[in-house]
Amino acid sequence: MAEAGALKVGVLALQGDFEAHAEALRQLGGEPREVRMPEDMEGLDALVIPGGESTTIGKMIDSAGLEPALRDHHEAGRPVLGTCAGLIVCDAEHLGFIDATARRNAFGRQLQSFEADLEVEGAGDEPLRAVFIRAPWVERHGPGVEVLASYQDHPVAIREGSVLACAFHPELTDDPRFHAIFMAMTTAARERAGEEARR
Ligand code: GLN
Repeated sequence: MAEAGALKVGVLALQGDFEAHAEALRQLGGEPREVRMPEDMEGLDALVIPGGESTTIGKMIDSAGLEPALRDHHEAGRPVLGTCAGLIVCDAEHLGFIDATARRNAFGRQLQSFEADLEVEGAGDEPLRAVFIRAPWVERHGPGVEVLASYQDHPVAIREGSVLACAFHPELTDDPRFHAIFMAMTTAARERAGEEARR
């Protein structure tokens, strides 16, 4: 049966804080796998593109020859979570996985790094403590994009179809709720794929 077992979630491990994402996914019962080469994408249910430096991540995707495998994953409807630089990598000016454009380092020099309590759609009533590090915000988004959270009137967590993205670092706090939204999307996507295969 295709959908048996723990959810296999790749974490792009070219640069940035992939370890903390892997730990968060493990805590939620997922089976994380570091992704560095196209082969590492095989059999994954979902993929996380972590924070770091978006230009560097983009270059490393190119030199590892990972782009076709990332596109296949996305086109198959398997979920993608992009956080901080990962949001930028997913945006319309980069991989184009989400109909939105990020503005890099958007909060300015005074606010390089900060924490804020956010109301996040789908995360319950308790505010979610979010860590922002030279974060982008979402400058523009299409009508199909759902805004899950905003800070100072700028969207900082968005979803479109199978793609979830946020400007902050959900892997740097103990709060599992943002990753839990992603794992729920992944469970649903795997169930859908299983139903289609049986048809
Ligand atoms: N400022 C970085 C960029 O523009 C993103 C920072 C981060 O991922 N923490 O790529």
